[in-house]
Amino acid sequence: MSEAKKMFIDGAWTTGTGTATRDLVDPATGFVNATVVEGNAADVDAAVAAARRAFDAGPWRDTPALARARILLKLADALEAHAEELGALETSNNGKPLRETAYDVSDAVNCFRYYAGLATKPTGQTYDVPDAMQAMTVREPIGVCGQIVPWNYPLLMAVWKLAPALAAGNTVVFKPAEATPLSVIRLFELLEPLGLPAGVANLVLGAGETVGSRLSEHPDVDKIAFTGGTDTGKAVMRAAAGNMKKISLELGGKSPCVVFEDADLETAVDWALFAIFANQGQVCSAGSRLLVQSSIHDRFVARLVERAQKIVVGPGNRDGVEMGPLITEEHMRRVLGYIEIGKQEGATLACGGLKLTSPELAGGWFVAPTVFTGCTPDMRIVREEIFGPVLVVLPFSDEAEAIQLANDSIFGLAGGVFTNDGARALRFIRKLRAGITWINAYHPTYNEAPWGGYKQSGIGRELGTYGFEAYTEVKQININLAPGPVGWFAN
Ligand code: NDP
Repeated sequence: MSEAKKMFIDGAWTTGTGTATRDLVDPATGFVNATVVEGNAADVDAAVAAARRAFDAGPWRDTPALARARILLKLADALEAHAEELGALETSNNGKPLRETAYDVSDAVNCFRYYAGLATKPTGQTYDVPDAMQAMTVREPIGVCGQIVPWNYPLLMAVWKLAPALAAGNTVVFKPAEATPLSVIRLFELLEPLGLPAGVANLVLGAGETVGSRLSEHPDVDKIAFTGGTDTGKAVMRAAAGNMKKISLELGGKSPCVVFEDADLETAVDWALFAIFANQGQVCSAGSRLLVQSSIHDRFVARLVERAQKIVVGPGNRDGVEMGPLITEEHMRRVLGYIEIGKQEGATLACGGLKLTSPELAGGWFVAPTVFTGCTPDMRIVREEIFGPVLVVLPFSDEAEAIQLANDSIFGLAGGVFTNDGARALRFIRKLRAGITWINAYHPTYNEAPWGGYKQSGIGRELGTYGFEAYTEVKQININLAPGPVGWFAN
């Protein structure tokens, strides 16, 4: 086994203060395929101190926006030049099929280019005020930003955070998920020669309960940006309160995919499959609750189940594979546990529901695409985020019931509706309490458009201009156009 991969702190690769390492397991085989150093709270402190110095001394925030943009564009070029390697690395670490990692890398490249472009665009305003005063605003970087991401889109989630933060002139301490640091380590290797001042971008590896929690509570961190589960998000929020950090939280979901009887059935089935089974169902915005109008329910479900059973499940690096393994054995057991709960709650298992055990797949964490019918709104499998290839189907009679069921969740991340009635589509979407929605589609995500949730699915928005503004403070400046005494006090 080669040497353990290191962290990047204050412009140098380091094993940090401890001696611990972590073995990474290929989810398709169960075999160890890489080892990384395991960071700790002291390493977070070192990285935050470096980021603090780099921010306060100003080498990055005082760099002209165009020069900052140039570095981000060079990084985009470097990622693009290594796209195949990065895709294979991500597949070996996360398990997702190569066609998905290829998409993730391409989107990451575009994300750096988008924010490089935005770095030089106007962000302030001027105001006509009732006085001889020119009022205006400028946007400034927030400072040291802690960034924490999950394992489902390791590279893409990292880039959604790094690109706007660096474009806006912040310094960062980044923590990947402990299970999936490899593509982000490679990103930092590609960033290193591009001339970023030391301390501007730091990478600390390690567990959430040590590294993540220290970053969230650290008094010298000005902002924490977190993507992950809702319960962890609440812990991050509590920790961030200590020094009133700015926060962005992108959390979980249990999003509805809603099909009315007038939708084209084959089209809606196709999107419904994509909504839940893309990325092995490990997607925060997955269409994991399928609501189908009663009049077409049985026909729709029959076709959906027929196609779900034909999804090609296998190692992500094999040609033709459409769904890979789940991320870890522990997560697979959690998903299988929910499937047992569904059976005990009285839902009907229409397909899937088990770990795949053919000789090729037995060593990995493969779960068959699973569909439950006969579900009711009170069931745990309907209310809780499973974060795997498990779809629950509920019937509805009319538009009013559809919207009531769709909004019956603590989450409000995403949702899609399928209908050929344009007015109904928009009426429905306007009543849906969710931040990301689609009409006659599900899932497409764009760097240009904001991403985030209502209710317990988060706070704030990433991507688009909103994602850039989330890494800035707004400063009001007032310029006296007629300088002289104010004259408020007579003597
Ligand atoms: P977790 O919340 O368990 O972990 C997310 C990240 O937080 C990981 O890096 C983890 O570290 C870290 N972490 C864990 N505990 C703490 C803590 N106490 N303080 C600070 N950081 C901590 O989520 P999962 O990794 O299981 O990811 C799945 C979740 O992410 C789902 O709920 C999904 O919906 C959500 N998600 C949301 C997205 C969105 O845009 N809204 C996008 C993608 C996912 P480590 O794992 O290394 O221990």
